[in-house]
Amino acid sequence: MRNKKQVKWYKSLLFKVNWSIIAILIIFIVFLSLAINNLVSNELTKQVKENNLEIANSLKKNVNDFLDHTENVISLTSKLEQIKTGNNQEILKVLKQTRTEYSHFEYIYLAKTSGEIFIYPQVKLGSDYNPKQRIWYQKAIKEDKLVWTDAYLDANNRYLMITAAVPVKDKQGNLIGVLAGDILLNDLSNTVANKKLGKTGYAYITNQTGEIIAHPNLNLIKERYNINQVLNYDQILKSGKGSVKYKDNNDDKKLASYVSIERLNGIIFAQVEKEEAFAVKNKLETMILELSLLILALLVVTVYLINKKYLLDPIQELVASIVKVANGNFNAKVDNNNEDEIGQLANNFNYMTQEIEAAYQQLEAYNEEVTELNKNLEYQANHDPLTKLPNRRKFLEELGLELKEDMASAIILLDLNNFKEVNDTLGHVSGDKLLKKFSKSLLEISGEDIFIARYGGDEFLILLRKVDSVVKIEQYINQLQEIVNTPFVINSNEIYLGFSLGIARYPDDAVTTYKLITRADTAMYQAKDLPNRDYLYYNQQMITKIKSKKEIKEKLRIALKNDGFKLKYQPQINLNTGQAEYLEALIRLKNHNISPGKFIPVAEESGLITEIGRWVTKEAIKQLAVCEHKKNCPAKVSINFSVQQLNDSGYIEFLKETLKQNNVNPNLLEIEITESVLIQKEQAAIEFLNQLSELGVKLALDDFGTGYSSLSYLAYISFDKVKIDKFLTDMFLENDNLETMTSLIDLFHSINLPVVAEGVETKEQYQKLKERSCDYIQGYLFSKPVASDKIENLLEENFIENL
Ligand code: C2E
Ligand code: CA
Ligand code: CA
Repeated sequence: MRNKKQVKWYKSLLFKVNWSIIAILIIFIVFLSLAINNLVSNELTKQVKENNLEIANSLKKNVNDFLDHTENVISLTSKLEQIKTGNNQEILKVLKQTRTEYSHFEYIYLAKTSGEIFIYPQVKLGSDYNPKQRIWYQKAIKEDKLVWTDAYLDANNRYLMITAAVPVKDKQGNLIGVLAGDILLNDLSNTVANKKLGKTGYAYITNQTGEIIAHPNLNLIKERYNINQVLNYDQILKSGKGSVKYKDNNDDKKLASYVSIERLNGIIFAQVEKEEAFAVKNKLETMILELSLLILALLVVTVYLINKKYLLDPIQELVASIVKVANGNFNAKVDNNNEDEIGQLANNFNYMTQEIEAAYQQLEAYNEEVTELNKNLEYQANHDPLTKLPNRRKFLEELGLELKEDMASAIILLDLNNFKEVNDTLGHVSGDKLLKKFSKSLLEISGEDIFIARYGGDEFLILLRKVDSVVKIEQYINQLQEIVNTPFVINSNEIYLGFSLGIARYPDDAVTTYKLITRADTAMYQAKDLPNRDYLYYNQQMITKIKSKKEIKEKLRIALKNDGFKLKYQPQINLNTGQAEYLEALIRLKNHNISPGKFIPVAEESGLITEIGRWVTKEAIKQLAVCEHKKNCPAKVSINFSVQQLNDSGYIEFLKETLKQNNVNPNLLEIEITESVLIQKEQAAIEFLNQLSELGVKLALDDFGTGYSSLSYLAYISFDKVKIDKFLTDMFLENDNLETMTSLIDLFHSINLPVVAEGVETKEQYQKLKERSCDYIQGYLFSKPVASDKIENLLEENFIENL
């Protein structure tokens, strides 16, 4: 990053420097051309002025020559005898001859003092014409020498002219008259017009007032154009010689030099158009501009080439190398040995790439280590360390991939039934050994299409791929069942394992990993509920069952919080006395008409039974305490006890404490326990129940006939009573089975256990039981369960007498 910046900086600096040079050069060229321009301009002006002056001078000489010649001609003529003394004929003859010899004279004439005038060529003069009043006459007489008039119009107003006039005298010096010759200004103009200056230049002559008297353009003379309209003529007259710039009435710029021509009291101008005069300069200007542009272009190209060679190319090379290195090619070297900054940069860069290469190699070494480490980590992340089976995470991944294939498959959730017992009785080390052995067995029956993972605890997930029919699943389940047919031997203990399986199929039951697993879980729990099934396929109804279970659970929770339970009491009638001796406490929800047959299993499943059990215990003891204080209330109460309550380790202490607090004799309380308690929790149960016995509490074996009906445990636990389940009572009181009933009652009596028949609803049943010496009857025949305020009535009544 930093290097890139640096390169950029260099680049920009060098560019700046080079382009600055160009900028300075441009300014220099501009100044230079301005200076040259100025110089040329001055020099040109000077030269043009001098040129013009030369022309003007040479013209002055021409005009003077012309005037000299004219003066000569008229002087000579005035000296002729015929002019002085001749008769009329002779005078005219001389005039004619002179005019012929010197054609510049438009007219030549002699005016005598008498007022007589001789003119050649002849011309008609007005009657009022008096020669002595004319300017030329008076001027010549006055100055007494040859004079020139200013330009004027002739007597007939036809021609603009000047006149040379000279006095004529006799030998004695007496004035005879004045001889004069007219010269048309056109003639002077012709002399002027011959003087050419370049293309546009020309010369002209003005008189004392500024009127043009000679000009290549004769019209100006006719119009009597006055030059003082466009320039300061007074000053020019005064200076007599010099140069002037002015604009003529066509707005053209003129550059003129002038000299005075004394004889005519006028000025000779020689001028050129400024534009022409400076044409060279303009040409020079374009040349300088073109040259400058050329130099500039050359400069730009040179600078670009220099930049490219010393700046851009090396930088580009450098950048290319950087890109190569960035792409992992550390052999990219920059070949630049220059001693400039870029050369240094290139050196640094080469050094840097070496460093990077070294660092990179080290990194690769690290990388290998890390890869190895990662492999380990990945294995650990995906495997269960105990069984080495893939774990839950890996299973989810595998299942996800399988579902993408969109082929029929099934997952099985396997839960070991009695694993916790093994852990509790043989210890965790043995438990672990058992899990390992079981996992190994699972792997032995797995194949290409079977993926097994430990889901956690004693749960395993099995993915069966390519399941085209249920047969395949059933075959696999058979194999699973075979595994547990033979006991596992751990530290010379033989352990019989059982399991419950829940099966969910893709795509019939669900199409996502999460749903498939929850459905398998649902099915597995249902299977656990059913005593004769170790596997179940998921089906829709399971969900509704689960839903209502959830709702019940919520109601139980609320009831626990808000005193939502109550107890009803159902009497057990002693058949010898007809009196209600024991009252069985049966729990009810105050606000819901849900039977305990429905909500007790939910309470057991959810663990809420522990708290509910304690509430029942407390409530029953309170009831006993209430009865104790009444004379006519000799009640004994029996309560029901679920197998899960055996896990309530504080229960014995709680019971003791509650009895004590309420000052109730323990032998007034009886606890009813079903056979299942004894089957599932043999060891712990025996201990627990014996502790209860030791407390003085009575024990009744409940629901006899619904379970295994194995009487072996009667040897270990001292029950006080046996309650025969309604199902068995009903069955045995059928006429065909009466003998069995007799034997059963006799059997219990033989081990000193009184018998209670449950669910007795008819008089006939009562009669048959009475005949067979049944000790107690509990059933609708005598009473349904009643509210606690009816207990006194129950105890006063003689149920047999009232039959
Ligand atoms: P259970 O212990 O066998 O209780 C006797 C059940 O039989 C009671 O049902 C009672 O109302 C019913 N019963 C009594 N005589 C007759 C009869 O002549 N005909 C018919 N059809 N039924 C009769 P209940 O009260 O619905 O209780 C059902 C079960 O719920 C109980 O069976 C017991 O297992 C459980 N239960 C009730 N209360 C509690 C309790 O507080 N704790 C525990 N853990 N379980 C309880
Ligand atoms: Ca019971
Ligand atoms: Ca029962």
